[in-house]
Amino acid sequence: MVADNRHPAAIIDGEHVVLDETIDVLDPATGQVCGTIPRGGASEIDAAVDAARRAYDREWRRTSPKQRGDLLRRLSGLILENADELALLESLDTGKPLTQARTDVAVVARYFDFYASVGEALEGSTIAAAADAHAYTRHEPYGVTGHIVPWNYPLQITGRSVAPSLAAGNCCVLKPGEEASLGPIQIGRLALEAGFPAGVLNVVPGYGHEAGAALSAHPGIGYISFTGSRPVGTLVAQAAAENIVPVALELGGKSPNVVFADANLELAIPTIVNSVLQNAGQTCVAGSRLLVHESRYDEVVDAVHARFREARLGRGHDDPDVGPLISAKQRDRVADLVSNGAGGAELIHGGKPAVLDGLEGGFFFEPTIFGGTPADAPLSQQEVFGPVVVASSFSSDEEALTRANDTEFGLVSAVWTSDVSRAHRMADDLQSGMVFVNSYGAGGGVEVPLGGYKRSGYGREKGAEALLEFCQLKSVVIKY
Ligand code: NAD
Repeated sequence: MVADNRHPAAIIDGEHVVLDETIDVLDPATGQVCGTIPRGGASEIDAAVDAARRAYDREWRRTSPKQRGDLLRRLSGLILENADELALLESLDTGKPLTQARTDVAVVARYFDFYASVGEALEGSTIAAAADAHAYTRHEPYGVTGHIVPWNYPLQITGRSVAPSLAAGNCCVLKPGEEASLGPIQIGRLALEAGFPAGVLNVVPGYGHEAGAALSAHPGIGYISFTGSRPVGTLVAQAAAENIVPVALELGGKSPNVVFADANLELAIPTIVNSVLQNAGQTCVAGSRLLVHESRYDEVVDAVHARFREARLGRGHDDPDVGPLISAKQRDRVADLVSNGAGGAELIHGGKPAVLDGLEGGFFFEPTIFGGTPADAPLSQQEVFGPVVVASSFSSDEEALTRANDTEFGLVSAVWTSDVSRAHRMADDLQSGMVFVNSYGAGGGVEVPLGGYKRSGYGREKGAEALLEFCQLKSVVIKY
């Protein structure tokens, strides 16, 4: 690990590339500058794509799954060896509580370990097409893949995006979010330490409209994995379409927790609260809508309210329950939606930025609950990306399903019930890429595929499926 990981260089072709132009890194808990990252642009992206292509042609395309697996496992081990330092860095960079940052480090290590094994198990198939021919399929890498990731889970999403691509045999160019790039750059450094050849994993930090736009429009890329907002996802897909480059879009959500009358509330309440407050609500799968059967509505809302009242806000390094939002811009966006988007709902708790003693410059926001929220209110429809939940009641299973599906998003849904038949019916009919029953999690483990229905995107990350996303299928027919 470098001595000064708060002022890192870009990583291009195995070199640490220092740039004259930099972007300030702000500590979200204080609003003060705590580091800098290089401001990469089109020429650094060109250099990184060239380096990746050369690495692919020179050696990476000839590596066996086992050789790649060994390197991925070595990187996973190095991440765990540096876990304390990485967690401190991630917590400083994003503002998230240290315990959450430690989990993120464990998860990014697990991605590299998991895809090492999945990559080694990749198989094609044989096809009985004709009596006098041997037909079979091969899953081949694209060559060079682009990865554009956001600031909310920089370490986790770097692992989720890059690990399957490397395992599939691609070389990667990674563009992390400009608000939080320190962790992803350290993964690039550790990859070199683990022995990945120069150019196999390049990390070019920079602004989205500069480095990000250059990467999405680059003709030397074979595939793009994008995680971020819907408007930017649309731009990335449009730019890639000019080059006929496929894209996976992991976009936002407005995920419901649906609580039926027969739910086990002892189990449900802490999980529901965590689904909103984890990472201060800046989670694509945040449980930002709470739909409760009318017979238990008051009980559930009171219980969530009690936990919101007790939630401790603070600096990530002090390991509070809720850290700051990432930036003043994000805090102001949340404040604006909360002030103007409730559609007449009752404000039960919170509702404004929080000012903490000694951390007056921080970007904190109070945990916030609205009750009786109309289905068409902007807060019921739009992703807030803050510690805000809107509650409302329903009277029948049909109404619960209609309300749960009534947004343009479809990332995750959760159902709380002790009726197995109802759980299955809901799981069948909910329009989201993932359904939890009596549980909730930011994705549910590295083994389980995650991705959107509707405007939450397309393509799947995580699980064995993600490896196939980073491969193109070749059919071979050999006539006897
Ligand atoms: P964002 O879309 O603003 O930025 C995401 C990335 O795109 C960043 O690296 C940014 O620099 C880059 N970018 C910005 N403009 C670009 C352009 N013109 N061309 C190419 N790249 C560009 O999103 P954000 O604010 O960083 O992250 C929050 C969003 O991400 C939320 O909508 C959240 O739901 C979503 N998200 C989704 C998942 C998922 O798995 N579905 C996970 C985490 C976050």
